[in-house]
Amino acid sequence: MEPLDPRNLPPLELERAVAALGGRPEHAARLLAHVVRAGRRTAEGLRRMPRRVLDAVPWPLPRLEPVEHRVSRVAPFHKLAYRTADGRIVESVLIPVTQGRYSVCVSSQVGCRRGCLVCATGRIPHARDLETWEIVDQIVQGIRAAPGPVRAVVFLGMGEPLDCYERVMAAAEIASRPAVGIAQQKAITIGTAGIVPGIRRFARERRKFRLAVSLGSAVPERRRRLMPGVARWSLDELADAVREVYAAQRERQMIALTLLGGYNTGADEVEALARWLPDVPYRLSAIDVAPGPHHPFRPPTPAEADRFFETFRRVGQPFTRRLSGGADIEAACGMLAGRLATG
Ligand code: SF4
Repeated sequence: MEPLDPRNLPPLELERAVAALGGRPEHAARLLAHVVRAGRRTAEGLRRMPRRVLDAVPWPLPRLEPVEHRVSRVAPFHKLAYRTADGRIVESVLIPVTQGRYSVCVSSQVGCRRGCLVCATGRIPHARDLETWEIVDQIVQGIRAAPGPVRAVVFLGMGEPLDCYERVMAAAEIASRPAVGIAQQKAITIGTAGIVPGIRRFARERRKFRLAVSLGSAVPERRRRLMPGVARWSLDELADAVREVYAAQRERQMIALTLLGGYNTGADEVEALARWLPDVPYRLSAIDVAPGPHHPFRPPTPAEADRFFETFRRVGQPFTRRLSGGADIEAACGMLAGRLATG
């Protein structure tokens, strides 16, 4: 019989597996609450559980080994690095939100195949996808490490979440389970660099999580340069896929844009943005690029950023300028893992 790690299965499959062992749905829910909400790795304290179910779980459950926990001096960001059983390094970030609350940002792959120009993870060769339990364990350990309550989960760490679709969706389903009580579905954000078939599948399956599509640029040749690994899908195809998600959810979508001073902050970029997706309500979530040795870009100057947002206002879509703190702890995706992995 396959060992039954409750962190490794979508919740409905866990219910089926528990039923096959003579348990009921509430046993599956209690098991999940025990290992995810309470973060327990042994069966101690788990009562009224059918013996066959208890025996099927490989206690003590494995966990990622924490290897670094850094706290930024300039903003309350925390960067956590873990070692996997096969010696890989993956990262999570605790992002301060409001009123002392945090979001936990988790990785889904070791390295990434997509090679986006400004992303440090894009320089780390793709070694493998993380197991569902390894994604869930980052959430569990992130909650324990956070100085305040964690109420949101974002899949924006190392890796392209839609390249390991099933595992990421399973982890998101687990995190949003009422028995686990971490985050509601809308407080779970799945990032993507724009994997069009994955976005369309997300729409078809009527997923309720928030999708954040990273655009890079609405000017085709800029986007091709910045995000070569997703350039096979045109901006028009990407817009159509986002339309499908909107049609399925009827919720404002999220488009993420990394601002690169002197490159994608001019009036031509805003004009291209205005033409790209005029018929879907979305929020533009903009963040300054994190300077790094692996790319030639710089953050926008205050004047460039002000002009960009002033012009973008005319597009009629709301925008947020995300805090890009934590540079002193290598908070940008892949920077710390890249250094720890290569020395
Ligand atoms: S931005 Fe995302 S998809 Fe692009 S290289 Fe980095 S991890 Fe991969």
